[in-house]
Amino acid sequence: MQGLMMDYQLTLTHAFRRAERYFSRKEIVTQTDGEPHHYTYKEWSKRAQQLAHALHKIGVVDGERVATFGWNTYRHLELYYAVPCMGAMLHTLNIRLFAEQLAYIINDAGDKIIFVDGDLVPVLEKVAHQIPTVKLFVIMGNAPYATEKLQPSVDYETFIADQPTTYDWPELAEDTAAAMCYTSGTTANPKGVIYSHRSIFLHSMGVGLADGAALSENDTVLPIVPMFHANAWGFPHAAVMMGSKVVLPGRFMDPLRIAALMQKERVTLSSGVPTIWIGLLSLLDKEQFDLSALRAIFCGGSAVPRALIEGLYRKNIIIVQAWGMTETSPLASVAKLRSYQQDLPLDEQLDIKAKQGTMLPGVDFRVVDIESGNEVPWDNQSFGELQVRGPWIARAYYNDSESDAKFADGWLRTGDVAVVDSDGMVQLVDRTKDLVKSGGEWISSVELEGRIMGHPKVLEACVIAIPDPQWSERPLAYAVPKPDFVGKVTSEEILEFLRPQVAKWWLPDNVVFIDAIPKTSVGKFDKKVLRAQHELGNIV
Ligand code: ADP
Repeated sequence: MQGLMMDYQLTLTHAFRRAERYFSRKEIVTQTDGEPHHYTYKEWSKRAQQLAHALHKIGVVDGERVATFGWNTYRHLELYYAVPCMGAMLHTLNIRLFAEQLAYIINDAGDKIIFVDGDLVPVLEKVAHQIPTVKLFVIMGNAPYATEKLQPSVDYETFIADQPTTYDWPELAEDTAAAMCYTSGTTANPKGVIYSHRSIFLHSMGVGLADGAALSENDTVLPIVPMFHANAWGFPHAAVMMGSKVVLPGRFMDPLRIAALMQKERVTLSSGVPTIWIGLLSLLDKEQFDLSALRAIFCGGSAVPRALIEGLYRKNIIIVQAWGMTETSPLASVAKLRSYQQDLPLDEQLDIKAKQGTMLPGVDFRVVDIESGNEVPWDNQSFGELQVRGPWIARAYYNDSESDAKFADGWLRTGDVAVVDSDGMVQLVDRTKDLVKSGGEWISSVELEGRIMGHPKVLEACVIAIPDPQWSERPLAYAVPKPDFVGKVTSEEILEFLRPQVAKWWLPDNVVFIDAIPKTSVGKFDKKVLRAQHELGNIV
């Protein structure tokens, strides 16, 4: 027998209408070169509808790819809803990709229009001759930008001006494609992930869950994760659905501007990769800001170092670790412990917060032995590949013949290696491609990095596997000293510090000091670059 409930379609149009009706006075603030830009959801919704009219007028049809090449701004937020609600698909392009990758992605997606922030015009111009599918460039800026290479082009404000402020949104099926994002390619070539209205709707509900990010109307949310990276972790979509005040950093993501913005707008919730918060913590060591409104910082994208969690705890800032991927919308698991508890030793609490946590309702997982393919026991020791499935997890890549290898028997193979404790809390050990296999045993590069970053003189650390004739692979560590300790810390000192903490054979062969760890386009440590440089003998 079937249930007798309505088959109501879960679409972003529902969220848009809510924001328009219930939250019209709530604010959206964007940091700019000059004074911050302020307006309300009411104006946002009108402009989004003008934008939909303008797109319709130039012939954008269902499913067509409308791309963006921009920072986190109010115009980007208008596109976030206008494009999917009219039935087209928003493709957020990563502004930090190399030209060849960028051209490849635009062509692979078949983008028809690109909305580009004025100051990014020169970056996009580099691929102008390689992207024949693009028929129009819309330039977003507060002053007109001249471009000979991006043609034909029109200014955003001119494009939407004079259009009606109400749009008769189509009734969409919930499985209609809404948005598209390419993986950032930390370990392989970028692949297209296509989100549906339904997946974004359900993911937004997950972001709103008390054990998700608990995002609500009471929040002032500052998504620092770029809107081109996994939909800024879904926070902008969810904020509109929940009616949170939104604060957008524009192109200003240095710790000083971020701290000042948080203080001024009384931000309650923010999100970013660890490198952002490592920078903020260093700043807070030197300068004071009133961040008392902040209830939590969401952090993920790479392992959150325990030393960072503890450092922020000392400043009364709670960091909540989350795990996910572009393919998982991305929020899949969230660490427990939203607040620190008096009756539990701090060390234990930090250990729990350093785990990737518990899967959200709707997300299933299993951990599978890398060699035998059997599920591993939940003993916090046996490790294997983490696999997930659920309503906001991708089931295939766009246009990709290798999809089958990544999606085994209805599960997404994440390429992450994890252990699970008896309560089902997941802790990532490494990525399959980053584990160090020494003498037949695995060494976790992530664990070594976390421990090295616990050394008081170290700012950042990264560990890679290097070939070894005797052991097959050995770990090599790179470290960046804190500014006051440049030239004043030795490899031996770090190894001494590690010795009591890890098995002898885990000790890196050497610790090489460098000025900065190379980062990927989304701010993660770029081990591909370190490995290549090591092979070339540039850094040993
Ligand atoms: P890419 O795979 O190119 O880095 P994504 O941005 O989709 O692109 O990154 C997903 C990956 O980021 C995950 O598979 C995982 O390796 C890593 N990751 C995300 N969150 C965490 C976390 N909290 N701890 C450790 N690694 C994480």
